[in-house]
Amino acid sequence: MKRYSAFAVAKEALSHHMGWERAWASPEPKERYDAIIIGAGGHGLATAYYLGKNHGITNVAILEKGWLGGGNTGRNTTIIRSNYLQDPSAAIYEKSRSLYETLSQDLNYNVMFSPRGVIMLAQTQHEVRGYERTAHANALQGVTTEFISPARVKELCPIINLDGPRYPVLGGLWQARAGTARHDAVAWGYARACSDMGMHVIQKCEVTGVRTEGGKVTGVTTSRGDIACDRLGIVVAGHSGHLADMAGFRLPVESVALQALVSEPIKPCMDVVVMANTVHGYMSQSDKGEMVIGGGADGYNNYTQRGSFHHIEETVRALIETFPMISRLKMLRQWGGIVDMTGDRSPILSKTPVENCFINCGWGTGGFKAIPGSGWGFAELMAKGTSPLCDAFSLDRFKEGRFIDESVAAGVAH
Ligand SMILES: Cc1cc2nc3c(=O)[nH]c(=O)nc-3n(C[C@H](O)[C@H](O)[C@H](O)COP(=O)(O)OP(=O)(O)OC[C@H]3O[C@@H](n4cnc5c(N)ncnc54)[C@H](O)[C@@H]3O)c2cc1C
Repeated sequence: MKRYSAFAVAKEALSHHMGWERAWASPEPKERYDAIIIGAGGHGLATAYYLGKNHGITNVAILEKGWLGGGNTGRNTTIIRSNYLQDPSAAIYEKSRSLYETLSQDLNYNVMFSPRGVIMLAQTQHEVRGYERTAHANALQGVTTEFISPARVKELCPIINLDGPRYPVLGGLWQARAGTARHDAVAWGYARACSDMGMHVIQKCEVTGVRTEGGKVTGVTTSRGDIACDRLGIVVAGHSGHLADMAGFRLPVESVALQALVSEPIKPCMDVVVMANTVHGYMSQSDKGEMVIGGGADGYNNYTQRGSFHHIEETVRALIETFPMISRLKMLRQWGGIVDMTGDRSPILSKTPVENCFINCGWGTGGFKAIPGSGWGFAELMAKGTSPLCDAFSLDRFKEGRFIDESVAAGVAH
C-alpha cells in the first residue's frame, strides 16, 4: 500500500484527492487460514497485526459480524494510562502505553495519541492511602506516577472545584505520560496494516459456531459459510460468553452496558483527563472541543448498547460538582457498549479447554488503553503457546484462587 505522508497529501491534492486507494481490502473468505481471529475490535486487529509483524504468520482472517471498530473500540472514552496496582497489570498496561507512544509511526496512520496526562482524584482519606500505595507500587514497577497535592491538581486543571459540596479534593494520582488517542483511528490503522500484510479483514461475517474434532479446534461456521483454521482467537468483548458457549466451555465473565456522553463543542478549557471515582465520573476534552464524559456500568447484566437512563443523571450531577462550569453546557449525544467484566476486574488472555483455541476478554471498562500491549502478548500466546505478558492472566487463576485484584484501579471508572 502507498505510504501516507505530507508529500502524498500534496501530490493527491493535484488530482483533487481522487487517487487515494481504499484503506483496506474487502476480500471473500478463503476455505482455510492458519489463524482466525473472531472480532475486529482493537484487540482482535492488534493481535492479527502482531501475529504478522512479530511472528511471520500472515495467512490470517479477522471475522467481524458488524463493521470493524463498531464494538466497544469505537464507543469508549479513549483514556490511556498504566497506573495499576498489581505487577502483571502494570507490565501489560505499561507495555501498551509505551507502544501507543510510537503507534502512529509504526502503523503509518495517525492515531492522534495525546499524552496530556491523567489525574485520578483522591476525595476520601481511603482514596489518598490507596493512591499513595499505587504510586509506591508504580515506582517499583518502573511506571512513572506521583501523588500530587490539591494545589497542583488546581494548577493542572484550573476549571476544577476543589471544595465540592460532598467530597473535597485531597490530592490525586498523576500520570504525566498518560492521555488519550483517537479510538476509530486505532482500529482503522491496525486494519490497514493487517490488510497491507495480506490478511483478510472480513466484515459482516458473523461466527455462529466453533468446529472441533477430538478436542481440537478445526474451524468456524459463519454467516458466509464454513472456514477452516489451525488456530482460533476469540476476541469479542461483551459477546465472549456466547462464543465460549459455542466452543463448549464456560467463562467467569458478566456482560453489562457501560455508557458515555459528549457535550456540544466549546473552546479549549481543559488539557488533562480527570477521573473522579468517588463522586463517579470522568471527563476530558476532545480535539473537536466536545467534553467527553464517562459514567458507571449498569448494575445488572444486559446486552443493550445504550445503558440505563439514571446513570446519565448521576454522572452529570457528579461532574457538575467537580466542574461547575459544565452546568451550562448542552449534551450532544449518549451511547453505550457491552463490556465483559471478570470478578477480579482483570482480563483473561488464555488457552482454553479446546486445543488451539485461545480467548482474549474480560477487559471490562478499561481495555482501550490495553489494545497494543494485549495484541502484542496475545499474538505471542497464539504463536508460541506462552507469553510473559499474558501467562498470569490465564483462565486457571479462577480455579487456583490466584486473582489479580484491580477492583480499585479498574472497577468501573478507569
Ligand atoms: C462507554 C465506554 C467507555 C469506555 N472507556 C474506556 C476508556 O476510557 N479507556 C479504556 O481503556 N477503555 C474504555 N472502555 C473499554 C474499551 O472500550 C474496551 O475494553 C475495548 O474497546 C475492548 O476492545 P475489544 O477489541 O476487545 O472489543 P470490541 O471493540 O467490542 O470488539 C469486539 C468485536 O467482536 C465482534 N463480534 C462479537 N460477536 C461476534 C461474532 N459472533 N462473530 C464475529 N464478530 C463478533 C463485535 O461486533 C465487535 O466488533 C470503554 C468502554 C465503553 C463501552
